[in-house]
Amino acid sequence: MVKKIMVLVLVLLLLMASAAMAAGKEGIYKTVDDMRQQLIQINDYIHDNPELGNQEFKAVEILTRTLEDNGFKVEKGVAGLKTAFVATYINKGGGPAIGFLAEYDALEKLGHGCGHNIIGTAAVGAGIALAKNLGDIPATIIVYGTPAEETTSGKLPMVAAGLFDKLDVALMTHPGDRTTVGAKSLALNLVDFIFEGKASHAAAAPEKGISALDGVMMLFNGIEYLREHVRPDVRIHGIVTDGGAAANIVPERAAARFYIRGADRDYLNTVVERVYNVARGAALATGTKVNIKEIKAYDNKLLVDSLNQLLLENAKEAGATQILPPPESTGSTDFGSVSYRVPAAELGIAFVPVGTPGHSQAYVQAGTSPSGHEAVIVAAKALAGAGYDLIVNPDLLKQVKDEFQAIKSGKAAK
Ligand SMILES: [Zn+2]
Repeated sequence: MVKKIMVLVLVLLLLMASAAMAAGKEGIYKTVDDMRQQLIQINDYIHDNPELGNQEFKAVEILTRTLEDNGFKVEKGVAGLKTAFVATYINKGGGPAIGFLAEYDALEKLGHGCGHNIIGTAAVGAGIALAKNLGDIPATIIVYGTPAEETTSGKLPMVAAGLFDKLDVALMTHPGDRTTVGAKSLALNLVDFIFEGKASHAAAAPEKGISALDGVMMLFNGIEYLREHVRPDVRIHGIVTDGGAAANIVPERAAARFYIRGADRDYLNTVVERVYNVARGAALATGTKVNIKEIKAYDNKLLVDSLNQLLLENAKEAGATQILPPPESTGSTDFGSVSYRVPAAELGIAFVPVGTPGHSQAYVQAGTSPSGHEAVIVAAKALAGAGYDLIVNPDLLKQVKDEFQAIKSGKAAK
C-alpha cells in the first residue's frame, strides 16, 4: 500500500514537472502571441523613426520602457555610450544568465535597411517572454541595448567594459533572406593610413616637394603584391580618402582607408602587421611619413555548433520558414567580439525572398510588412525558447560551455 502510494506520488510529481516544463515553452509562445500587437507597434515605431548610430534615443526609450513595464531593472548609458543599456531580470535569486542582444540603429539616407528594428524588438520580446515564464526556476535574463552596429560599434566598448562576462550564453537574431544558423563572420580591422609629404609647385619646383600621394600609391601597389600570398579567406579593400588638394600642387597630405578581413583573428593579426609593413615601406620609399590609425577591430564569430543547433530547433518549433544553410560569402559583425567572450549564437530569420541583398530598399520595405512582423514574433519565440532549454537543462548548458572552451583553447575547429 505504502509502496503504491509512493509510486503514485512519484508519477504525480513527474507529471507536474513535465507539465511545468511544457507550460514554460508554451507559456513563452503564449506571452509572445499576447504581446503581438505591442511588439509590432514597437517594431514599426523604430522602423518609421530611423536613428543613426549613437543617436537612437527614441528606440532606446521605447525598448527600455517596455522592459521596465515588465519588471526589468534598466541601466542606461553603460560603457560610456548614451544609447546603450543593460536590462536585468533576476528570478528567484538568479541562476544561469541568458543574454539577448538588441540592435536598433539605421543607415544613413536609407533608413532601416538592415532590419535592426526587428533585432531590437525581438530581443525585448524574447527577454520578457522568458522572464515571465520561469516559474520557480532561478535564472537571470539580461537584454543588452547595443547601439551603432553600422558605424562605431556599441558592442566593442561594452565588451571592453566586461558587460557580457557575467553571461552563460549570448543570443541574438538578424533578419535576412533565410532562416539559418552558423553563418560565419570575418574578423576585421578598419585602418586609416595618413601620409605626410611636402607641398611645392608641381611644375616650377617639383624637386622641392615630397608627394604624400606617392606614399598612398605605393601602399596600394604593395598590397596588390601581398594579396597573392595570404590565405584565400582574406579580404583587403580600400579607397583613397584624400588624394591631394590640386593637380598643380605636390600633395602634402594624402590618405587611404582600408578594411582588412579574415576568417580567423589570430591569422588576421599577422596579415595586418604585413599591411602595416607595406605602409612603412611605402613611406620609406617615397620619403613621406605615415601615420597608421586603427579605427576599430572586430573578431570573427566563434561558431558553437551545439548552441547553433539548439537555436535552429527552436526556430523550427516556433514556425520559422525559408530554412536554409548559411551563405558562403560573408561580411563582419561586432557580435564576433562578443563571441570571443561567452558562448554566442545568432539566428538568421527570414523576412525577404532568398537572394535579396542587405542594406537595400527591399529590406526597408520588408521591415514593416507581414513577413517583417512574423520575423519579430518567430525570432522572439525562438530566442526565448532556446534560453529556456539552456536554463532547465544544465547538461545542455554544460555541453555548450565545454564546446566553447574547446574552441577557444584551439582544441576544436573555429
Ligand atoms: Zn545589420
